[in-house]
Amino acid sequence: MLKITICPTCGSDKIKLVKRDWTSQYRGQSYTVLGLEYYECADCNEKVYDRQAIQRMQKYSPAFAKKRHSKVTVTIPVERLVLSELQPA
Ligand SMILES: [Zn+2]
Repeated sequence: MLKITICPTCGSDKIKLVKRDWTSQYRGQSYTVLGLEYYECADCNEKVYDRQAIQRMQKYSPAFAKKRHSKVTVTIPVERLVLSELQPA
């Protein structure tokens, strides 16, 4: 598990590990990752996911489910993708 004590966005030490059901959407289809562990900053609301969390998201995401049987290598920077989806429009 990744250890984070300082928020990478605002530098606050109020960032802490949370475990929640995490819901996101892919092309209008919502999906939930149950009991996902990630860091959340109380000051700026930034969320930080470690590799395990991202792997779990990928497992649940319809975007990746589609590619499961494909031999094509996925080159999308997943962390970037996930974080940008969470930014308010
Ligand atoms: Zn922050």
